[in-house]
Amino acid sequence: MTYTVIGSGVIGLSIAKAIKAHEPDAEVTIVEKELKEAMHSSGRNSGVLHAGFYYSADSLKARFTRDGNAAWRVFCEENALVINKCGKVVVAKDATELSGIEELYLRGIRNGVDVRIIDEDELFLIDPNVKTYKKALHSPDTSTVDPSMICHVLKQKLENLGVKFIFGDAYVSKSEEGIVLKSGRAVKSDKVINCAGLYADKIAHDFGFGKHYTIIPFKGIYLKYSGMSSPVRTNVYPVPNLKNPFLGVHYTITVEGMVKIGPTAIPAFWRENYTGMDGISFRELWSIVGYELKLFIKNAFGFRTLAIEEMKKYNKNYFVSLAASLVKQLDGINFREWSKPGIRAQLLNKESFELVQDFVVEADEYSIHVLNAVSPAFTAALPFGEWVVKNYIFADKR
Ligand SMILES: Cc1cc2nc3c(=O)[nH]c(=O)nc-3n(C[C@H](O)[C@H](O)[C@H](O)COP(=O)(O)OP(=O)(O)OC[C@H]3O[C@@H](n4cnc5c(N)ncnc54)[C@H](O)[C@@H]3O)c2cc1C
Repeated sequence: MTYTVIGSGVIGLSIAKAIKAHEPDAEVTIVEKELKEAMHSSGRNSGVLHAGFYYSADSLKARFTRDGNAAWRVFCEENALVINKCGKVVVAKDATELSGIEELYLRGIRNGVDVRIIDEDELFLIDPNVKTYKKALHSPDTSTVDPSMICHVLKQKLENLGVKFIFGDAYVSKSEEGIVLKSGRAVKSDKVINCAGLYADKIAHDFGFGKHYTIIPFKGIYLKYSGMSSPVRTNVYPVPNLKNPFLGVHYTITVEGMVKIGPTAIPAFWRENYTGMDGISFRELWSIVGYELKLFIKNAFGFRTLAIEEMKKYNKNYFVSLAASLVKQLDGINFREWSKPGIRAQLLNKESFELVQDFVVEADEYSIHVLNAVSPAFTAALPFGEWVVKNYIFADKR
C-alpha cells in the first residue's frame, strides 16, 4: 500500500513509524512545507515528558501519556539522546488549592501513574527553594528532553526504513488519486494521513471532515534564566484550572540544565503568529480574530478573563512575579531574554464554543485526520501513532 503523511512534526513521524512497523513494505511519503522536520510545535515546546496525571481516565490523553513517557525514555536511551530525569512538583498557593492537588493525585492513580502527595518537609528535600501550602504533588517520572533532536533522529531512522520525505513543498488540495502540492506536483497514494498541526483543520475541511471545528492558535512564550545558580532543582508547576487545557506559568529545567518560565497561552491572531507581523495572513486574521471576538463577548469558558490575564504576561515583571510566587527566593532580574515561542493548534468547537480538551481523529477508508494534537501530544506521540494506525488503517486486517 502507499501512504502520504502530511506534516513532519512528531505526530506525522510517529504515524509513519507505526505504519512501517505494521507493514514493512509500505511506501510512505511525508510531505512537509518547511525545509526540515519539527519547525513548529514539535520543535517549539517545553520538552517535558509528562507523566499523565492531568487527564481524566476516559480520555485518549490519559491512555497515551503514561506509555508515551516510558516509550520516549527507551527511545532516548537506545539512541544516546540526553534525558533530564529531574521530576516535577505541583504546589498549592493556599488552602483553596489543596483540593486541586488531591484531584491530580486521584487522576494520576486512576491513570496508573507514579504520583505521591508530599508535605512541606518532603518538598524541602526535593527542592529547598520551592514553597507550597501544606501539601504538594510529586511526580518522579516527569523528565525533559530535546524535542527537535528526538524528531531529527526519528526522521533519520524513517529514512533508513525507506520512508521518503518531500521538504519545502506544501499540500494545497486533494485530488482523485492523492494530493497536489504548491509546486504543482501530484502525490498519489492509497491513503492520506493529515498531521498538519496548525493547518490540520483546513486540510480536514477539504476532505469533508472536522466541519464542527476550527483551530484557535494560542501563543506560548518563555523567559530564560541567565543567573549563576539555578533557582530550582525540579520542574515546578502551579495547580491548574482543569476547565481549560493550559497549565499556568511554571519552571522547566531543560536537558541542558537551563531554567525557563512559561509558556503563556496568549490568543494569537494568525496560525504562525510567532513574532511581530512575520507570516501574517489577512484571511486567517479575519477568521481567527472573528472567533476570538465572539469568545470574548460571550466569555465562553472564561475566555475574556483568560485572554486579559495572558496578555498581561507580555510584561516581563508581571510574568516573573507569577513564577516568583512558586518559590521562596528569586532574583527575577535574571529572567531577561525571551526564548523561542511556540503556538498551540487548539481546536474550538464552532457550535458549542468550547475548547476541545482531548485528541480528535476523523477518518474514512481513504483519509485520516489528526485534529487537536495539543499538549501533551509530544509525550503521547509514539503510542498515539500506534493506536491511529491499528484502529484506522489495519483495523479490518486483525
Ligand atoms: C508552547 C508549547 C509547549 C508545549 N509543551 C509540551 C510539552 O512540554 N510536552 C508535550 O508533550 N507537549 C507539549 N506541547 C505540545 C506538542 O508540542 C504538540 O502537541 C506536538 O508537537 C504536536 O505535533 P504535531 O506533529 O501534531 O504538530 P507540528 O509539530 O506543528 O507539525 C505539523 C507539521 O505540519 C506541517 N504542515 C502544516 N501545513 C502543511 C501543509 N499544507 N503541507 C505540508 N506540511 C504542512 C507543519 O509545517 C509542521 O511541521 C507544547 C506545545 C506548545 C505550542
